[in-house]
Amino acid sequence: NRRIVLAARPEGRPTPENFRAEDTAAPEPGEGELLLKVLYLSLDPYMRGRMSAAKSYAAPLGLGEVMLGGTVAQVVRSRHPDYAEGDHVLSFSGWQSYAVSNGEGLRKLDPSAAPLTTALGVLGMPGFTAYSGLFTIGRPQPGETVVVAAASGPVGATVGQLARIKGARAVGIAGGPDKCAYVRDELGFDAVVDHRAPDFAERLKEACPKGVDVYFENVGGAVWDAVFPLFNDFARIPVCGLIAQYNSTGEFPGPDRLPGVMRDVLSKSLTLRGFIQHEFVRQFPDFHREMSAWIREGRVRYREDIVDGLDRAPEALIGLLDGRNFGKLIVKVGES
Ligand code: NDP
Repeated sequence: NRRIVLAARPEGRPTPENFRAEDTAAPEPGEGELLLKVLYLSLDPYMRGRMSAAKSYAAPLGLGEVMLGGTVAQVVRSRHPDYAEGDHVLSFSGWQSYAVSNGEGLRKLDPSAAPLTTALGVLGMPGFTAYSGLFTIGRPQPGETVVVAAASGPVGATVGQLARIKGARAVGIAGGPDKCAYVRDELGFDAVVDHRAPDFAERLKEACPKGVDVYFENVGGAVWDAVFPLFNDFARIPVCGLIAQYNSTGEFPGPDRLPGVMRDVLSKSLTLRGFIQHEFVRQFPDFHREMSAWIREGRVRYREDIVDGLDRAPEALIGLLDGRNFGKLIVKVGES
């Protein structure tokens, strides 16, 4: 059994030395348990937070513990009445090739209904984040302008396409010409702006001639600064992620912009509302049904960036925080 553990807590940007690969004996399932072979591992921005000791919405990972993560796995031995050998499941097995489970938190997957990897992306946690955050907090109306950054990734790509399904205008923000072309030409966003362009803020303003009614916040930092002046009265801002600051250490760079933000929250009647997708878990069955239909109808598209081999997971996660992934980042860990 190959596994990757947290070797040291990162200071700022993670490095390969923060991770350690280990080989251990294959775990044995006890009575009522199953042995899972991990096929695919999801890499997600929240993993950076768990590597730190800082207080957050979830407890930090301990040093020497297996890195955590959502996985698609196959049952290779079952001593559990509900699962048979060969079943595919969504599990939370982390960065390792085999894991034992007592069945808690598992969801069976049907490989003939959708590609297995989609359970980690568009039909899984990131897709659900887009759906629940946009529809519950953002509530886009026909003709409104919805802005989202990290627009080629699984959350942002889905947000823009769902906004269009609701009749709103979708404006994406992405890093570099290839991602921008994909967002505009393949995902069908109405406009896209490259946040690395020197005149980014000006171009964003041009792309939003009627202002911004919904800003689905994935990034923070300079992207927030550019979107902020464009808010219309009663704009809704689901605060989903702040990836631009996940690697930052110490004090945030000044000047302090909070008084200006509070002034506009008041004078423009803005709604700024953070969320962690799990809060909306009761919406999951509706999400799964609707999203499956939109994918079948070609109204929602998705892209996956699949890296081969568990040992490449550390460099892939480091790259995710730098924007080097292009689509939902997944590690192929084993063969079915
Ligand atoms: P992505 O696959 O989109 O990967 C992250 C992307 O963020 C990068 O590819 C990069 O895209 C962009 N990015 C990174 N740094 C910066 C920066 N400094 N400025 C602008 N863009 C940057 O990730 P996900 O779709 O999985 O996640 C998107 C966001 O949603 C994250 O903030 C994540 O933490 C959050 N999230 C929140 C959840 C919740 O429950 N609240 C659940 C799931 C995700 P580019 O090259 O285009 O800039």
